[in-house]
Amino acid sequence: MAVPLPILTLDLPAQKYSCHACGNCCRDFTVQLRDEDIARLGRQGWSAELGAEPWVEFRGSRFLRQRPDGSCIFLQDDGLCRIHARYGLQEKPVACRSFPLSVMPTADGPQQGLNFACGSVQLNKGAPMASHLGDLRRIAEDAPETIGQARPVALLPGREASPLELRALAGVLDQWMGREGASIATRIDGLAWIAQALRHAKLASVKDARFLELVTTIVATLEDELDADPPGVATERQERMLRQAIFMRTEDPRLDRMKADGFLRTAWRQWRRQRAFLLGGGTVPELRGFAKGVRFQDAEVIPNPLHDAADGHDDPIDDLVTRWVRARLRGARTWGAGYYGFSAVEGLAALCVDVASAAYLARVHAVGRDPSADRVEVPDMAAAVARIDRTAGRAPWLATSGERLRLSFLALDDGLRRTCALHPCGVEWT
Ligand code: SF4
Repeated sequence: MAVPLPILTLDLPAQKYSCHACGNCCRDFTVQLRDEDIARLGRQGWSAELGAEPWVEFRGSRFLRQRPDGSCIFLQDDGLCRIHARYGLQEKPVACRSFPLSVMPTADGPQQGLNFACGSVQLNKGAPMASHLGDLRRIAEDAPETIGQARPVALLPGREASPLELRALAGVLDQWMGREGASIATRIDGLAWIAQALRHAKLASVKDARFLELVTTIVATLEDELDADPPGVATERQERMLRQAIFMRTEDPRLDRMKADGFLRTAWRQWRRQRAFLLGGGTVPELRGFAKGVRFQDAEVIPNPLHDAADGHDDPIDDLVTRWVRARLRGARTWGAGYYGFSAVEGLAALCVDVASAAYLARVHAVGRDPSADRVEVPDMAAAVARIDRTAGRAPWLATSGERLRLSFLALDDGLRRTCALHPCGVEWT
């Protein structure tokens, strides 16, 4: 099929990626299959070789079968894919061929996106974004919906955004994230401030050029605003809501186990996990080998890595979080088709919660790695970012009205800013 529109590559010169065949994505993802994937796997004759179909069916969709440890049934000991080794790249399921790249329809044309669950993306290893045009064309041919007509996106629920307004907002936020001389804590605080301010703004008659003027003015004075009004300490309720948000972002349903256990046992297990996150006492429920045996209270005494990072983009945690957030903003993964059809302001709030969740999870990872750890190191933050970004825009339960309600509540009483700045119990940031 001919690809009619030019695909917009990710406008982030500082970001690189090439696959280094680490196999991590094959250990960590539940891969949904398309009809053509099923037909291809059928032609390859795996069911006779494996003694079962290489996929499982769940609620009307089919997914690649996994081993008990969650890895793909086709992952070899050398970290490579058995389908790829035997039949070549073109014979793999579409989602496996695409990852970590994506293409999303936007009003400006199909836009390249990037997922930070990939180790090479996190480490910034490989070729520039613009060099992946051939891969993007292949994704568009494999999944024609990615280059289809973009649906309208709202600025706020009930207030449709023009392409100019979305471009202006993404551009201004991206510029803010790239600002030299402001710490990563300040820049994330600024994103949360903007999400909260826009949520309550009367934007019905502030359109196009006036909207651009508004957001440009906000960003021009934002640093002074944040200085004058630092975020307060998160309330117990806000902390609970953040932990609930983390549960939603790290829930990892194992399809074969859910099928074997049935609805009631699965629902009971999920309820218990959710409750553990809500209450925050005792041990953090296991996140697939991520935080075995870590107690919430031990993780919560570790400094928030966003505040602990040295000032400046040279700090590796600052660099990682900055690239991640900018890739979400620039790569059409914050609102619209790339994020459950959310309005721009809701999507921005969700992005802030993602960052706050990653900062919290990194502390859990630090204690899981070393029980005597007193700070988050880069691998902790990288693991947390990977964990959060792997579900962003993919997990259907993050698109529910309950999640939207949580974002609304978190935007009240400075909650987004407070949870992004969440610090160890009893410590006041100066
Ligand atoms: S995680 Fe990234 S580098 Fe590793 S195999 Fe997957 S795409 Fe390649």
